Amino acid sequence: MNFQLSLLVQLQQLDLKLHDLEKQQRQIPERLHAAQSPVDEARKRAESLKTILETVAAERRSGEDDLSAHESHVQKMRGRLNELKTNKEYQAHLFELELANKKKDGLEERVLLAMERGEEKRKELDEVEKLLQELIQTLEREKGELETLSTKLADEVAQIEQDKQGLIASLEKRVHHRYSMLKSSMKLVVVATVQGETCQGCQLQIPPQLVASVKRADDLLTCPYCHCILYYEAALHETPEGVGNEEPVAQEQVEG
Ligand SMILES: [Zn+2]
Repeated sequence: MNFQLSLLVQLQQLDLKLHDLEKQQRQIPERLHAAQSPVDEARKRAESLKTILETVAAERRSGEDDLSAHESHVQKMRGRLNELKTNKEYQAHLFELELANKKKDGLEERVLLAMERGEEKRKELDEVEKLLQELIQTLEREKGELETLSTKLADEVAQIEQDKQGLIASLEKRVHHRYSMLKSSMKLVVVATVQGETCQGCQLQIPPQLVASVKRADDLLTCPYCHCILYYEAALHETPEGVGNEEPVAQEQVEG
């Protein structure tokens, strides 16, 4: 049974490694998303700034149109000054001109504000676009790295699957079945060593009689608490029984 147990221990190591690789594989889309979202955000910000810039430019143009219309109006008013007969009419006209000049100041202010706001937003847009370029570069780099990683992980998974098949071929059917059942119904670790009288799967003390049986390893024995298949580390390296010990996958365990 020790030889079978040593295969199970190796199988579990492969399964743990596989679990870790699959976890890394699952993280790839998340990592990609994490690199993608700042790009999307910066792009959205740039779009919204462009919209603001368009609005500001339209505001500036309308201000300039109003200003030039007003200026030609004032021009005409000035031209009429000479046509005025009485001093009273003249004074009234001057007053109107003064009002018109004040209105002109307001219009100029409006154009100026639009220009300032436009410059400010343009500067902001330049910064966002610069940032966007950097983020896109980071994203491309990350994409490349993740593609390489994805290929590497797939290769490793394929290799482990192959190694597993080799191990499983040497396992007794009932032993493999037991392992598979435990694995599907339980957690990640289903094979645990016994140290002293303690199961390393759950860290609980198991009955001395069970410890003795595990040391003899004449059958598949499980922990009464965590249901792990139990083995005794030192026993795995003793002279194995059975014919399967000539399998290359178990060679190092057997010889060790
Ligand atoms: Zn246990």
